[in-house]
Amino acid sequence: ATTRTPLMAGNWKMNLDHQQAISTVQKLSWSLKDAKHDYTAVEVAVLPPFTDLRSVQTLVDGDKLELVYGAQDISKHESGAYTGEVSGAMLAKLGCTYVAIGHSERREHHDESDALVNEKVRVAFAHGLTPILCVGEGLEVRKAGDQVSHTLAQVEAALADVSAEQVANVVIAYEPVWAIGTGEVATPEDAQEVCGAIRGVLGKLYDQTVADGVRVLYGGSVKSGNVAQIMAQPDVDGALVGGASLDPEEFAKIARYQ
Ligand code: PEP
Repeated sequence: ATTRTPLMAGNWKMNLDHQQAISTVQKLSWSLKDAKHDYTAVEVAVLPPFTDLRSVQTLVDGDKLELVYGAQDISKHESGAYTGEVSGAMLAKLGCTYVAIGHSERREHHDESDALVNEKVRVAFAHGLTPILCVGEGLEVRKAGDQVSHTLAQVEAALADVSAEQVANVVIAYEPVWAIGTGEVATPEDAQEVCGAIRGVLGKLYDQTVADGVRVLYGGSVKSGNVAQIMAQPDVDGALVGGASLDPEEFAKIARYQ
């Protein structure tokens, strides 16, 4: 038996400017306060666009909020002539706890390869950031029944040259691409099949103690109405929530799924 603290992480994608970010985080923290949310029992994080992070940092620090935050991407480079990129050092200085890496939208629209995802994971660790490593199969792979082998290959590639000590800190989000933003939710059994297999491969690549400590999230059209069933699965330790995280009352409900 292990004691993995569930994590509910809201991926805002390219939504909410810095002013909307402030009111959204305020409403989220009020909703959680009303519900007497215990952040040590279920961690709550938001992943706003880069341009919102400074405002979120100021609010979280100023109001001593217990929720945490992170970025949606990171540069593989340290600094210098990389126009448009944002470095790990910059994210760390903004108080980020997490950084999403290899989200399917970045793999699809920005040609992110497993090798690049691996570089970004290593850069995140080098700056003390916790990667939320996103993996998962598309519809064709699912139809062919190859979701487990496909997803495990992504996990293995992303963790190349990552030490057991570092992996103990990683969060892995299993997000079947066909379920992202589509309203199509994987069944709890589908989520468990792949999340369990991810834990299994971590046991093989590292050891069982490490595998038992890693949080594996499910992502794909999670809402307050379906989160409880998904969270009831033994290898699902939280959710990466896109659309529903833009509504603070709804996201607060998701965070208290019990
Ligand atoms: C996501 O973008 O990580 C996601 C799971 O989106 P949605 O909840 O909108 O399907």
